Amino acid sequence: MSKIRFEAIVKSANRDLITIQEHGRRSEQFGTKVFNEDRMLQYLTKDALESVKGAIFSGSKIDRKIADQVAEAMKAWAISAGATHYTHWFQPLTGTTAEKHDAFFDLLPDGRALEKFGGGQLVQQEPDASSFPSGGIRNTFEARGYTAWDPTSSAFIYGTTLCIPTIFVSYTGEALDNKAPLLRALHAVDESATAVAKYFDKNVSKVNATLGWEQEYFLIDKALAHSRPDILMTGRTLVGHQAAKGQQLDDHYFGVIPSRVLSFMGDLEQECTKLGIPVKTRHNEVAPNQFELAPVFEEANLAVDHNLLLMDVMEKVADKHAFKVLFHEKPFAGINGSGKHNNWSLATNTGVNLLSPGSTPMKNLQFLTFFINTIKAVDTYEELLRSSIASASNDHRLGANEAPPAIMSIFIGSQLSRVLDELEGVSQGKLSPEEKTELKLNVVGKIPEILLDNTDRNRTSPFAFTGNKFEIRGVGSKTNCAKPMTILNTIVAKQLKAFKKEVDALIDKKNLKKDEAIFNILREYIKASKRIRFDGDGYSVEWEKEAKRRKLSNNRNTPEALQILTSKDSLALFKTMKVMSEVEVAARQEVELEAYIFHTQIEGRVFNELVYNYIVPAAIGYQNTLIKNVMGLKDIYGAAHKKLSDGQLSIIEQIAEHISEVKKKADAMTQARKRANGLKDINKRAKAYCENVKPHFDEIRYHCDKLEQLIDNSVWPLTKYRELLFIK
Ligand code: ADP
Ligand code: MG
Repeated sequence: MSKIRFEAIVKSANRDLITIQEHGRRSEQFGTKVFNEDRMLQYLTKDALESVKGAIFSGSKIDRKIADQVAEAMKAWAISAGATHYTHWFQPLTGTTAEKHDAFFDLLPDGRALEKFGGGQLVQQEPDASSFPSGGIRNTFEARGYTAWDPTSSAFIYGTTLCIPTIFVSYTGEALDNKAPLLRALHAVDESATAVAKYFDKNVSKVNATLGWEQEYFLIDKALAHSRPDILMTGRTLVGHQAAKGQQLDDHYFGVIPSRVLSFMGDLEQECTKLGIPVKTRHNEVAPNQFELAPVFEEANLAVDHNLLLMDVMEKVADKHAFKVLFHEKPFAGINGSGKHNNWSLATNTGVNLLSPGSTPMKNLQFLTFFINTIKAVDTYEELLRSSIASASNDHRLGANEAPPAIMSIFIGSQLSRVLDELEGVSQGKLSPEEKTELKLNVVGKIPEILLDNTDRNRTSPFAFTGNKFEIRGVGSKTNCAKPMTILNTIVAKQLKAFKKEVDALIDKKNLKKDEAIFNILREYIKASKRIRFDGDGYSVEWEKEAKRRKLSNNRNTPEALQILTSKDSLALFKTMKVMSEVEVAARQEVELEAYIFHTQIEGRVFNELVYNYIVPAAIGYQNTLIKNVMGLKDIYGAAHKKLSDGQLSIIEQIAEHISEVKKKADAMTQARKRANGLKDINKRAKAYCENVKPHFDEIRYHCDKLEQLIDNSVWPLTKYRELLFIK
């Protein structure tokens, strides 16, 4: 056994349990590291507090004097809580977060030292973060990037640093990050949804999109993770034969959480609680060593920030517990990968969930309005929504019969399907009094409240209605939720805006009553968006055929899925909803394609290393042992050795065959990679990586895994699945 593998296994097996800290009462610790309303009340004047709250509620500007006050208050609080530095915390297009710390410490001209932080530093910074991907925006505009305070997401202290959530934009105003477009999309959906919600309640003046994510992840012992170059470099195992036991016994799912893991979770939850991340649920997932964590849902922008922060906190806490967290969507072959369901809804300032069926016909008409408009939006822009969850690593999941297929469809369950069918039968134009009663009392009025405990869930559906929210199931575990949230909220905003216009036109021109007009339009939408509704098995081959007949997109890989971003319709959508300009969209497409290429390229390189420096040498070593053995037998037994060395000779030959094949495939892959790299056009390059490079990966793996089965365990250099996957 290689030294590194041996030592890692010993280390992992002898880990002491890092005992669970005294955790105390959660509610008392909640948000203690956050500059939230409680802190502001304590540190700000009434005017300043009102101004910040106004900015949060309506996006109003905070003037410089107030910003100075807020900065002074933040500084006082942060320093009293032990912070020494501050940073603008932002989300470059790499998909993660970035920070550049500055000390509060400063010197006066006379050499005296002090702690300094003013409105200027709070509101805007120029991190000169010129190495982040910008999809050519910087080059085109020769603009530097700057970060600007997002007062809707509270500042927090992380370690000894005050972190201020910010957007990251170029001087000419183009968003260089994932947060700015999200904020614009949330603003758009607020505007459109508020206007529609007013049909039902004049008091509604704001609608927030809500997001509750469910984060899946794997935990691996740190020493074991470090013993494998593929896990370190790519976040997943490129080779590895399946362990004899996988998830077939279903004994991990919701099972007893191992004590080492529980101890990690306890510390993690405490840290999250202090940072204001309202974590609530934890459990084992389907695959061995796979777990899930879910919070109470929040306003979408805050929830996105919290998910990004969580992923960072997880890595740090895991490290303390000698674990490595794997967020990759498919770290191990043969067992489930990880996703991040995005539960989404719309909430009014009056405390109503617009996707919650109500107890009266009017409330249910409101519910149906938002429900059906969402369905219509997804139907119109299904391909765009699919594009928002595309990535090299998520390609391993989508359509792989464990996660939703790459085809978008909506599951609403049989009860709501029946309601929509009945609504579809509404006659056109004015309704007779009987029709009205029939509709209101018998159709809309009876949407059963038991929907809330809708157990009738279809796990194969990529977009499912689950009682009082929709759930996007295809989001990858690594993905920044800002991406799907930007698209979903933009398309719903666009749809609601069109709906309002159509309803108003019917009221004005055809002299219909409001609810009649609404019924009329909803009926048309139900008809028009029928193809997106599918309650059957999303994994089946029949569905794939049926989806094709329905003209639904089925983009199985990232380069294909990303094309739709720059279609005429998509660009028009982003522009009219003021979410992204053409330049910004094109930049994102380029950055995503580039990321796809780089990730695949890195995997290709690591494959070569594994083949040439690990697997082939180990195989040859063992083969030599066998050869020596056969020669020894020949020395002793002469011609009679043949019968005795039968088995050895067969293994020698099998090893030779796999070595030859694995080398051939690895070399072919390298050639394909070189050819791909030579392509100037980024679309062609991404396509070449997808179609000509990546297919070799499975072939190489096949032979490597065969060799793993043939070769003496004690000389195999790579930590095996059974060693990686079963934490005690
Ligand atoms: P699942 O059965 O999919 O595992 P869970 O109960 O684990 O469902 O997760 C439900 C998630 O939905 C939680 O993260 C919760 O916060 C979120 N959620 C519940 N209601 C809403 C809502 N109105 N808007 C957004 N998210 C919600
Ligand atoms: Mg879920």
